[in-house]
Amino acid sequence: MNVQCPVCLGGEFEDLIDFGVIPRSGSFLPSPGTAFRTMHHAFEFCTHCALTRQRGQADDSPDYRNVNRSTRRQMPVYTPNLVSSLSRHHPDRNDLVVDVGGNDGAFLDLVAEAGYANRLNIEPSVPLAELSAKAGHKVETVHLDSTEANRIRKQYGPAGGIFCRHVLEHVPDPFGLLSAMRLMLKEDGILFVEIPDARGILHRLLGHELWDEHLFHFTVENLGRLVKRTGFLLEEETIQPHRGGTNILFRARMDFQQKSSSFPEKAVFSDVEACRCFKTRWMDLRLRIQSEMKGWAEPVACLGASHPQSNYILFTEIGGHVDFLVDDDPHKVGCYVPLPQPVPVVSTAQLFDGPPPGTIIRTAFGCEAWMDGICLPLAARGARIVEPYLTSNPRLYRPE
Ligand SMILES: [Zn+2]
Repeated sequence: MNVQCPVCLGGEFEDLIDFGVIPRSGSFLPSPGTAFRTMHHAFEFCTHCALTRQRGQADDSPDYRNVNRSTRRQMPVYTPNLVSSLSRHHPDRNDLVVDVGGNDGAFLDLVAEAGYANRLNIEPSVPLAELSAKAGHKVETVHLDSTEANRIRKQYGPAGGIFCRHVLEHVPDPFGLLSAMRLMLKEDGILFVEIPDARGILHRLLGHELWDEHLFHFTVENLGRLVKRTGFLLEEETIQPHRGGTNILFRARMDFQQKSSSFPEKAVFSDVEACRCFKTRWMDLRLRIQSEMKGWAEPVACLGASHPQSNYILFTEIGGHVDFLVDDDPHKVGCYVPLPQPVPVVSTAQLFDGPPPGTIIRTAFGCEAWMDGICLPLAARGARIVEPYLTSNPRLYRPE
């Protein structure tokens, strides 16, 4: 990976944290003996702008052509607001609306409902692109770059609105992707960018969000600086709560003046300081959870079986004490997740059929209602409930 920081063009990076060689996320093994892929999972941060990135990633783009992971059910509750914002700021219903990395077209469905007839999803995943086409959206099954942007603009015309939701953090060249989107935009068109807010990781120690598919973690300040450097004028920034963390939403237009704007040094300083403290704070959490773990009654269950759970368990190194994961996704139930030893996934129904676990860890971050439905009755039957970040328990689980 390029030494230079894509945001501030500085070249000084320091280590954020190094988790060593661990299983890749998304490994669901059909049997405990199945082989799985591993990776060296380490992060570094720019000492000037606090941009955090994976260390030692290859320069070649991750290949999403065969990734078949629909995000339809994970749409944040505020998503319809994005479409209303498009209606307010670019009301022309005949103009092209593009969703970059639009997955199965779930977001463009909302754009269609708002009356925009000319919709294009640029989605490299073949199975997801097919779903999107079936839903009635035009699809380009490519990884977007400037060459593709110029071709697409020629073929479909310039776009009145471009959405790029939870994509920028996945690509090795975020400046290149933003520049490609600028090439496709109409002069008065609008760009919407949505990404997870790295301040959850840095300031609130939500280390489970250090996912191996996220090559970068942005803050409001460094994302703003990158968007401006690409030639956009920021019109609105919003922070929205989502799944226990927050998301950053930017609305921008083309900036033809390219006025230099100041960088809010104070906020950046506190983000850089948070980067410098992250490793010490995480190690402290790991020690505390490992010390608590000795008192946990068996069996121990962790709620959820996706990457936030495997990240949390691998990064705290408590996997040796976890007996099973609980998840209601039928594709995961019956499989094994390497933590790093294989741990089975059971459904809620299977959990309630058996004797109650001794300990339940509330690792289904942000899915409070689902976790309550499990924890409240099982706590009444004697299970001990543990908060993963050892925060004070917001609900009372002790049987009366
Ligand atoms: Zn930087």
